Amino acid sequence: MKIRDVVIGANASMYYKLNFRKIKGVYYPRSEEEVVAAIQFAQSKGLTVTPKGGGSGLSGACTGGDDERLMISSLQMKEVLTVSKDQRYIDVQPGITPDKINEFLESMGMRFYIAPSSRDIATVGGILSTDGGGNDTWYNGTMRDSTLRVKMVLYDGRKLTLDANGVRCDDPELEAQLNKIGLSIDDVASSHGTLGFITELRLSIGPQVKESLIGGLAEFEECNALGRALNDMIERKSPVRYGEAITSAHDDVREDLNPPLLIVDFPADYESEMKNIMDYKHLDKQGLARMKDIRLKLPKRNPKVGIQVALFEGYGFHGDSLFHLQDRLDLINGLLIDHGMTPFAKYGHAPSKWYLGDNTATYGLILHSREIKPENQTGPEMLDTVLALVDLCEANGITPKPEHKWPYSDKIKKKRLEEIRGIIGKGFNPFLLSEECNNVLGSMV
Ligand SMILES: Cc1cc2nc3c(=O)[nH]c(=O)nc-3n(C[C@H](O)[C@H](O)[C@H](O)COP(=O)(O)OP(=O)(O)OC[C@H]3O[C@@H](n4cnc5c(N)ncnc54)[C@H](O)[C@@H]3O)c2cc1C
Repeated sequence: MKIRDVVIGANASMYYKLNFRKIKGVYYPRSEEEVVAAIQFAQSKGLTVTPKGGGSGLSGACTGGDDERLMISSLQMKEVLTVSKDQRYIDVQPGITPDKINEFLESMGMRFYIAPSSRDIATVGGILSTDGGGNDTWYNGTMRDSTLRVKMVLYDGRKLTLDANGVRCDDPELEAQLNKIGLSIDDVASSHGTLGFITELRLSIGPQVKESLIGGLAEFEECNALGRALNDMIERKSPVRYGEAITSAHDDVREDLNPPLLIVDFPADYESEMKNIMDYKHLDKQGLARMKDIRLKLPKRNPKVGIQVALFEGYGFHGDSLFHLQDRLDLINGLLIDHGMTPFAKYGHAPSKWYLGDNTATYGLILHSREIKPENQTGPEMLDTVLALVDLCEANGITPKPEHKWPYSDKIKKKRLEEIRGIIGKGFNPFLLSEECNNVLGSMV
């Protein structure tokens, strides 16, 4: 095994204790045919397959768990295949990043608008598999909203193409079966590599836009008031281009900030309506850049005492939970404290958009969370806290980890994935849907 094959285990999640001996092979295909050959090899040896893109996923899915497995990386599949400025699409291989697509489109005056903060390392195949998006999903949607067509290879080597017209397959019987259950790009979105290997994507692109925007900073007495203002923006479909909330920040990092607060950037002609929603003070360009900078640095600064961790990554507050934001955050912080953690900072995209397991779009606030970890806390203890947080979220109408959704924490999505895998085969990332998934990941913290 070469060093680069050990590096295949590297990932950004907290599940890093990989048993490399269980990785029985690593493939870096360049074409669909090479993907088929890699999968056929896995099948002949009875190995499961874990697809891997940039390794920036935070839910542990790209590790492959602890199965004896074959890893297939998309990092040698990063070509632009076709582009149509008139019809506003680009066809790409799965291993290309949004930044590289935009480098390519720059001179054409076009842009691909899905931009997670990890856009320089995350691949489009991985971003669709986690249904990621930037802090502008409210405006530009998540990855599925910009995906027009997907090509995929299944565990038995059969090939699928999915688009608005349904499924096409080299096997007519399978094609009929999959069309009957309505397999679509929505199913591939957030499937965490459990269906097949994505070999090609058609993505929508649009012209680069220049517009006059106004920056604003609103401070609130408490978080329920912030939640009500966000709900108002959602109901009015406010054309916010950038919105970030900070609901709490530890004294060691808050500088002169006074959370809860909301930083926004919106078109100048929306100013009078925005004034009806909330009181805010204007931020000039430098003021807005400074606020964005403080927000970006929140997770990067350490407390004077203790170690900062990102235990859980995200909470999606929507509907009723927005109106009770303060109470819900108190519950979350109470649980963290009971588990020995000190809440450190909570900040995130607002208003924002994500999808629930039944594929309905929902809108609200995605909060990221950082904690101070007590010394000597073990990995399994940390995972216990994470699982308790998932339960707390579900009991209170909060979407756990909305950006990095865990298929195994969303029962509706899990059931659907199992239905599809009953037809197409179960060779891809099976550990994610197994009963032991939590134990497996717990042993890797
Ligand atoms: C610093 C940082 C900032 C981040 N910011 C954001 C953000 O703003 N918004 C956001 O949404 N996410 C964010 N993320 C999370 C992460 O970038 C996303 O989850 C990303 O979409 C994963 O892409 P990847 O190529 O790294 O995939 P990987 O991590 O390699 O894999 C993720 C999943 O996709 C599957 N997969 C990968 N390639 C394929 C393929 N070709 N076919 C089938 N399945 C495949 C894997 O099996 C795995 O289940 C951030 C992560 C980091 C580390």
